[in-house]
Amino acid sequence: MDYMDRDSRYDVLFDAVDIGPLKSKNRFYQVPHCNGGGYRDPSAAAEMRGIKSQGGWGVIFTEQCEMHHSSEITPFIELRLWDDADIPMIAKMADRMKEYGALAGIQLAYSGINGPNLYTKEVPLAVTGMPIRTFTNDPVSARSLDKEDIKNLRRWFVNAAKRSRTAGFNLICLYGAHGFGIFQHFLSTATNQRTDEYGGSLENRARFVKEVVEEVRNEVGDNMGITLRLSLDEMIGDLGFANSEVRDFVEMHQDLPDLWDLAHGAWEDCSGPSRFKEEAAQFDLVTGIRKLTSKPIVGVGRFTSPDVMVKQIKSGTLDFIGCARPSIADPFLPKKIEEGRIQDIRECIGCNICITGDMTMSISRCTQNPTFMEEWRKGWHPEIIEPKGKTSKVLVIGSGPAGLEAALACSNRGYDVTLTEASNILGGRVAKERKLPGLSAWGRVADYREYQLSQKPNVETYLESSLDADQVLEFGFENVCIATGSSWRADGVSRQHVVPISNDNSLNLYTPDDIMNDKLPTGKVVIYDDDHYYMGGVIAEKLIEKGCDVTLLTPCAYVSEWSINTLEQAEIQKRLIEMGVKIELNRGLVSIFNSKLISNCTYTQNEKEIETDNLVMVASRKPQDQLYKDLLLKKTIWNDAGITSVKLIGDANAPGPIAWATYAGHRYARELDTEDLGDVLPFRREVTNLASN
Ligand code: ADP
Ligand code: SF4
Repeated sequence: MDYMDRDSRYDVLFDAVDIGPLKSKNRFYQVPHCNGGGYRDPSAAAEMRGIKSQGGWGVIFTEQCEMHHSSEITPFIELRLWDDADIPMIAKMADRMKEYGALAGIQLAYSGINGPNLYTKEVPLAVTGMPIRTFTNDPVSARSLDKEDIKNLRRWFVNAAKRSRTAGFNLICLYGAHGFGIFQHFLSTATNQRTDEYGGSLENRARFVKEVVEEVRNEVGDNMGITLRLSLDEMIGDLGFANSEVRDFVEMHQDLPDLWDLAHGAWEDCSGPSRFKEEAAQFDLVTGIRKLTSKPIVGVGRFTSPDVMVKQIKSGTLDFIGCARPSIADPFLPKKIEEGRIQDIRECIGCNICITGDMTMSISRCTQNPTFMEEWRKGWHPEIIEPKGKTSKVLVIGSGPAGLEAALACSNRGYDVTLTEASNILGGRVAKERKLPGLSAWGRVADYREYQLSQKPNVETYLESSLDADQVLEFGFENVCIATGSSWRADGVSRQHVVPISNDNSLNLYTPDDIMNDKLPTGKVVIYDDDHYYMGGVIAEKLIEKGCDVTLLTPCAYVSEWSINTLEQAEIQKRLIEMGVKIELNRGLVSIFNSKLISNCTYTQNEKEIETDNLVMVASRKPQDQLYKDLLLKKTIWNDAGITSVKLIGDANAPGPIAWATYAGHRYARELDTEDLGDVLPFRREVTNLASN
């Protein structure tokens, strides 16, 4: 292929780089990342990795793979390599990774103090026995590894390495980052309180990793590369494996692994959302480490900009550009840079919805890339889509994430698309939410699609065009896609209340829509949050910045509770506390009466009055589906108007996070003019083979 269009300053990203006995074709390195599918959905996970191979990545890793049954992290779903029976599953993934020339890597994890062993019922083994440290505070403790256990554990790593080789992998990553891997547990004085030769001095704490690397290398090192994944700083102060000690360790053991894979802190630190972390946020922590070793370094930082990537290389900071989320949002990121198509990169917005697939043990989604984890289940390719079916014209009403994605994917299929939007700007909810504190990167959902649509000869866009049913019938498009979104309810209906809250209208009442439309309260404000995702917390930030006296009232035990799944709950609560928001947890809202709020304790039901001037109701959203209902009433004349299909999608159908809307828009386009599957399951899945006895 001719890369004439590529700016030569990006050439450096396509240098080949050695990793031990092997060579990566370029510097694009997909670091290990979860996907919620793991051992339950191995073909879906394998196909997802295969698509990245096609997208041009030089190195592609699995998610963490439990390398021995004595340490597992149920209920979370990752990969397993407990015995030979698991080899075919991971071999399928290795095959798909290598299909277009990437090096295939497997991340071997022994979870130690993080593995509660709820499934295997084995007593967990840790460097120093203590209560298990997980997201779920399981009432389980680990016992300390004795010398025999350490010997066994070394052998288990070698066994896992041999199995990985049999499965066809090129690289082995020894996991010692994010607090999740035993190598970190040995290295950190927080988790290693041993008094034998494996504890105490850094030299002693490093003994285990040195032994494992040596033994694994003796067994597979001739044809496999060994990488060591560490956190740049454990982020728990001097007791932890802090940045200065990481540097000492690298300096003392310069040539230990074939590559240093430098992650950061706990997973929450490493995968910080854009609300709290900029691109390349780890730059300072990683700067200078490369000089301490002759081995290449990979680092992460939600890299989506090729210029930022080039800076990492040219400044001598990194040898490889590590990406997890950017590779999810755009599996073809390297190809697009290689071919000089920067403007086509679907940039990660840093929302961490992908992580929720893992945290909820479901299967991952991506806000920007609706095909993620549907590559095998539905046969959706992120860059290729079936040509159009028998009809030709689509009217998409509403330009939020659902409408924009439907319009783009329909135009990619070759339909003539007309997109209408009631307001004077494209983007729907994203156009408004991007202006809230910390959410500006979310605007990329609209920007990417708006630019792509502007390049299409078969798309016409009309702003300030609010359509009613008669107009839709008049236009007579064959297909009508209604993506008219939702609006926030003011009546308090959500989880605590399934019918409207008793309200004598004695307070100024606002919804998030009011706040986003700059209709702002002044003075004392109570935000009632029975939504539990980001909106309540973000509005609290906005109003306190505007000088209001803000109280956040929620029936939950946490602020923005569901954001535990996006790894940002702790940061949100910390920020609100530091900004001076008063937080009332485990309290609901009973009624609005006589210029006061009556609030109840969610456990005892004891009530108290709260004085305030204003109430912001962050409860739930109502679909804006009137247009659809009006059209349904006129179904008998659709035919005469030339209409063959009318579909309601996205928030107008059922409100949800933005990722649900882009998925709905994409699905609409994929399914247009296809056969109705009737009662057939609309995706592939794997069903466990029954044992013969
Ligand atoms: P979703 O998340 O499902 O995409 P959004 O609320 O983000 O939904 O976007 C819906 C968009 O539809 C909004 O920009 C809104 O202005 C627009 N809209 C709503 N009703 C109409 C209508 N009748 N005609 C044209 N556009 C509409
Ligand atoms: Fe990025 Fe959000 Fe997609 Fe994750 S879900 S890859 S954070 S855009």
